[in-house]
Amino acid sequence: MSRTLKLLFLVLFFAVGLFAAEAKLVSVKTSDTSVVLEFSSPVSSDDIKQNKLDNPQNKSTYRSFFDIRAVSMIKPQSFTKTKLFDALKVSQFDKEHIRVVAVLDTHDKLVYRIDGKSVIVENEQKQSKEKQDTTKSQDNSTKSENTKNEAAKDVLSNLNLESDKKQESTIEPSLVNNSQPQVPDKRKIIVIDPGHGGKDSGAIGINSKKEKNIVFAVAVLTKELLEKRGYKVLLTRDGDYFVELQDRTRFADSKGADLFLSIHANAVDLRHSDPGKAKGVETFFLSPARSERAKRAAEKENGPSMDVMDSITKGAFLNVLNREKIVASNKFAIDIHRAVLANLRAKFKDTVDGGVREAPFWVLVGAQMPAVLVEIGYITNPDEAERFDNPIFRNLLARGLADAVDSYFENN
Ligand SMILES: [Zn+2]
Repeated sequence: MSRTLKLLFLVLFFAVGLFAAEAKLVSVKTSDTSVVLEFSSPVSSDDIKQNKLDNPQNKSTYRSFFDIRAVSMIKPQSFTKTKLFDALKVSQFDKEHIRVVAVLDTHDKLVYRIDGKSVIVENEQKQSKEKQDTTKSQDNSTKSENTKNEAAKDVLSNLNLESDKKQESTIEPSLVNNSQPQVPDKRKIIVIDPGHGGKDSGAIGINSKKEKNIVFAVAVLTKELLEKRGYKVLLTRDGDYFVELQDRTRFADSKGADLFLSIHANAVDLRHSDPGKAKGVETFFLSPARSERAKRAAEKENGPSMDVMDSITKGAFLNVLNREKIVASNKFAIDIHRAVLANLRAKFKDTVDGGVREAPFWVLVGAQMPAVLVEIGYITNPDEAERFDNPIFRNLLARGLADAVDSYFENN
């Protein structure tokens, strides 16, 4: 080792010593809206590193970490469930960092801000969360609240900082060296559901056209457009394979989606109907509607998985739909319908308005967000079947769907 290098090391050694963590954690306070960490001196955002890890024990929660360059002057602190988190622990992580670990519902995201000597951790979507909680507390009995608190305690007892450390280095080593604070992802999440897939071709139309292929092409175009407009878009299937109906909304729920859009193409039974007559765009949202017309509309898309449920189970599913969700889905359906018709008619003036309707579509049951099913036209109609192959028609459709998402968020 050269003399200069030795000198450099010496200087570095002192520099590290000089700038080593000086901030001292003196107190931690939690409330339903925030966690306030009080330090002896101001903390800079360069001293805070935020990361997250999936919770292997429970897929509906994850862990959010904040590593703060500081020394704790207090004992490790543990907190059980508040409106903000399922569980939270604050303790010294290594010589220079304290670690705040929160167990969160996958729908929630914590962010931090610095206020003088305080670091305040709070929910990114505080307002929407509070709204949810009002509904929750109306629906839930005290008993289920207690069960939840018990569960939260279990979660807390599993919160082992040592194992967190191990996971970090073995599962996601990139997290360790990532000194950039994570930018919170505030994009709205749209789940697009191309109907059918794989062994389920959906309806078969003129020239043996398959519904599954047409709706997939439109879904991909819509995804690309929405992504250009800044949305985060996920498809329930990204290829030609079969997905169970209930797994489609379950996927949307697990991703914390803001909107769910199922795309289908309509058909009539060619043996009994005039294929030229049935045409146009129809948009549906889920409601407990029991009318014969609504039932008929849903029958084709529901398929066997709805048939195997007895009528009591079906009724029970539909009865849990809350009024607020139906109204939101209705609004989204109107936006979809208007925007799709407006875009298509710019080029295809004769596009028929099949109306916005409520119907008990099984694929929409279980969605925690506004959910709509659009039938983009009839593949049994010669004109419409031909248009489905036309790139101009497909692009206009995609633009209509993307415009609808924009206008939904502008107004709601
Ligand atoms: Zn379909």
